[in-house]
Amino acid sequence: MSKGSIKVQAENIFPIIKRFLYSDQEIFLRELVSNAVDACQKLKTLSSIGEAKGDIGDLQVEVIVDKEAKTLTVRDNGIGMTGEEIEKYIAQIAFSGAEEFVNKYKDKAEGIIGHFGLGFFSAFMVSSKVEVYSKSYQPKSKGARWVCEGSTDYELQDEPKKERGTDIILHMTDEAAEYLEDWKVKELLSKYCRFLPVPIKFGTKEGGEGEAKVQVDNIVNNPVPLWKKTPADLTEEDYNSFYRELYPMTFEDPLFNIHLNVDYPFNLTGILYFPRLKKNLELQKNKIQLYCNQVFVTDSVEGIVPDFLMLLHGVIDSPDIPLNVSRSYLQGDQNVKKISSHITKKVADKLEELCRNNREDFEKKWDDIKVFIEYGTLSDDKFGERSPKFMLYKNVVGECALLSDYLEKIKGAQTDKDKKTVVLYTHSEIEHHAYIENAKERGYDVLVMDSPLSSHIINKLEQTNIDVTFKRIDADTLDKLIAKDEAQVSKLTKEEEEKLKPVISSQVDAQKFTVVFESLSEKDKPMLITQSEFMRRMKEMQATGGGGMAMFGNMPESYNLVVNSNHPLISKILSESDESAQKTLAKQAADLALLSQGLLKGKDLTEFINRSVELMK
Ligand code: ADP
Repeated sequence: MSKGSIKVQAENIFPIIKRFLYSDQEIFLRELVSNAVDACQKLKTLSSIGEAKGDIGDLQVEVIVDKEAKTLTVRDNGIGMTGEEIEKYIAQIAFSGAEEFVNKYKDKAEGIIGHFGLGFFSAFMVSSKVEVYSKSYQPKSKGARWVCEGSTDYELQDEPKKERGTDIILHMTDEAAEYLEDWKVKELLSKYCRFLPVPIKFGTKEGGEGEAKVQVDNIVNNPVPLWKKTPADLTEEDYNSFYRELYPMTFEDPLFNIHLNVDYPFNLTGILYFPRLKKNLELQKNKIQLYCNQVFVTDSVEGIVPDFLMLLHGVIDSPDIPLNVSRSYLQGDQNVKKISSHITKKVADKLEELCRNNREDFEKKWDDIKVFIEYGTLSDDKFGERSPKFMLYKNVVGECALLSDYLEKIKGAQTDKDKKTVVLYTHSEIEHHAYIENAKERGYDVLVMDSPLSSHIINKLEQTNIDVTFKRIDADTLDKLIAKDEAQVSKLTKEEEEKLKPVISSQVDAQKFTVVFESLSEKDKPMLITQSEFMRRMKEMQATGGGGMAMFGNMPESYNLVVNSNHPLISKILSESDESAQKTLAKQAADLALLSQGLLKGKDLTEFINRSVELMK
């Protein structure tokens, strides 16, 4: 037997470490199980190069709980350690890692907890005593037992052991008694160890077929997760069932997936899924799981992938993402930047390919992915450069087109006298039904732009396409939206208009509505409501978080009440000699315009209905 002292400068680092890590204690199991898995993998490697002789058998890790003895054991039949190796690797290396941790993060432990590979040392967060009982794979090696009771002193002695491998036996403290509960251990194993590459056993379960029920090993992990397999060997169903394995509580299949596989200049594998986007984008975030060599690390990928990609689901596995650093450092890390732009590129590649080769299917899925693509276009320059190749625009009759094709199509009819191509759009086919019908009659096309990001997208498009302007269908009368050279002559003289204006103004809320005369076609409505494109857009952008727009959000709603000076009804109002009948007619026509915009409500609506009944008598 030998006695020794752990070689650390700090007198006693245990209490400090325990306090630091209190909130993330549970990672101890991840650390110990991954060490055990590593030990198995190392033996496999040694065997494959002939260094470990003979049959190494089936490699396995086992987690055993003994509630009475209050111990939790992590057992493996991997490479094992000799007494000297325990002294070297555990007492020196593992503990020096712990010391480094304390020195580095004394003042800022928060944020890095759980990402620092504390390894073996984390056992002391939950145990008062830790035993390492091991036997090396090397021929003739005997067993050794190392015991440490949470101070810098330990004991090491020879102790015969039959099987090759290591038992790490944790004597749990009373505060950590929870980790002796089956359900807790299962929960942790399923969270952190679900895809570790060596089978992990935790107890037994009923197995066998038919009558012959037998107890079989309960293997808690899937050692060969889908992302480690070759894409060419996999079917759509494989991807979908893996999605369900990852998110057992999600019932919808994903829309499509991207299998990532990079060797150089960094190592990265994974599968990303496009989910059907829900209304609440925030809830959707933080579903991507980050792994490091199949060990679960976190499902908070902020700073590792661009913000918009956080809407995707799936797994990313990379040993090249430094996890023992703070988030702010991570964002500046060169490897992380490369990984992030690689993922962005892959996502853009996939979307482009789908749009080109599976157009029909892509169009079907468009409504479910458009917010994602819009978000990416607005927030990520690289993605924004790519998206014109797969961003679709859908019109009111449901036809989809890329912007370049769409502009080509409408150019003839919808270019105004200043040579600008005018894209007409609506945010609601129901609200704008009358306007849309009007536009269709003129042979114009109307796009549906109804996402919360539409106004931002439109602004961006106008900046990059200077010959194009977007106008919402209710922003003005059609003649003004797409102004051509031929102007209609007005049936009313200036004097007549001046006479009529106060009559009509007095019938509407003057704060909200400005009365303007326009010489439209006789076929157009007598009066209609328009709302300035500029003001409305500013308000919308303010609502969805456009910087510097705050003042527009506070502006009252304002509209134009456009009076069609060529409509017979307007002439009739003008010629009406009875003042009260004149006002009634003006009110009725204005209310009809409001009604078609959904702006007539409450008392005004009731009065309108009553008045209509009177007029019909
Ligand atoms: P890390 O795993 O990051 O190297 P650890 O503190 O977890 O650091 O472990 C230190 C070393 O102890 C490991 O590198 C390994 O050599 C050895 N070790 C730990 N657990 C085992 C085990 N179950 N079997 C064999 N060797 C182990």
